[in-house]
Amino acid sequence: MSCNFIFRQLFDSESSTYTYLIGDPVSHQTIIIDTVFEQHLRDRALIEELGCILVASLDTHCHADHVTGSWLMQQATGCLIGISKRYGYTFQGSNLLLDHGDQINFGNRHLNVRATPGHTDGCLTFVTDDLSMAFTGDCLMIRSAGRCDFQMGNASRMFYSITEQIFSLPDDCLIYPAHDYSGRTVTSVGEERANNPRIGGHATERDFVGSMENLHLTHPKKIAIAVPANMRSGRPDNSEVPQPADWAPVRRSYAGQLEIDPEWVAQHLDDVCVLDVRQPEEIEGKQGRIVGAKLIPLGELKDRLTEVPNNKPVITVCHVGMRSGQASIILRDAGFPNVANLYGGMLLWQQLGLSLEASGDH
Ligand code: FE
Repeated sequence: MSCNFIFRQLFDSESSTYTYLIGDPVSHQTIIIDTVFEQHLRDRALIEELGCILVASLDTHCHADHVTGSWLMQQATGCLIGISKRYGYTFQGSNLLLDHGDQINFGNRHLNVRATPGHTDGCLTFVTDDLSMAFTGDCLMIRSAGRCDFQMGNASRMFYSITEQIFSLPDDCLIYPAHDYSGRTVTSVGEERANNPRIGGHATERDFVGSMENLHLTHPKKIAIAVPANMRSGRPDNSEVPQPADWAPVRRSYAGQLEIDPEWVAQHLDDVCVLDVRQPEEIEGKQGRIVGAKLIPLGELKDRLTEVPNNKPVITVCHVGMRSGQASIILRDAGFPNVANLYGGMLLWQQLGLSLEASGDH
């Protein structure tokens, strides 16, 4: 499977939501499914680091428990925003209205759209062209099924969505739901048909509806905020896209580190404190050092924090950026508000021909 698709499963622990990236490994055209607003910078970093070209941000349905990151993705990448056309209302910003039987292309691959209402009116399941994977949203879940007690939910319709649209897929088709609350990540059609406690085995419509109508679940905490926000495709009231930092064009890597490009640092040396955490012998070596850099080896940083100025942004630097990445985390944890790691370290700085302190200056 991994050779057929670029595929990643991501998790938002706040809402227990799974987000999926599915892409064509040849063209790198990629779709994101059920991206979460608060995870925008993480998801975007992964898309960039994998070299993906985002074609569309899709939602399996209008979520009640979290806000979609689709509008943010569109702002960042220009991708399409896809959601079902079967809701009785419009989704501001959506420009890919989907219905049963539609095909969503990404490079030489595609997803087929199956309407699987029941949890909501407009729930969709996305199936890969080779029938190896299905993204079922809150319809069929791992040993479970999505609740049907709000947002025009209907357990009877869900019974037919699952039995006719999902159980008709091959037994070995992997099922990737929108949520799991018990750490489970994936299941298969055959497995759920046999073992799903709500609809597996010989369950009839009456068995299924009877069990679904007696779940006695509490109302989703965020529904009053999430549904209106999702009707705007997750566009915030202030229409602002979150940035990793407000003081410089800082990037957040998928590893969670804040990085800054050497060209920016070279142009702003007077406005920042460059903190070089290499060993003294490296600094004396041929790689040289950045003009005005403060020198504290990584191993001594925790004991010498008071020597680091806290009235300027701090740019950490080392040979290629590993140790300085760790230094930037030490500073962040110690409460330094504006810290970033120099991308590429001294090696890239030197390769770019940026200015170094003349030897003998120190
Ligand atoms: Fe849902």
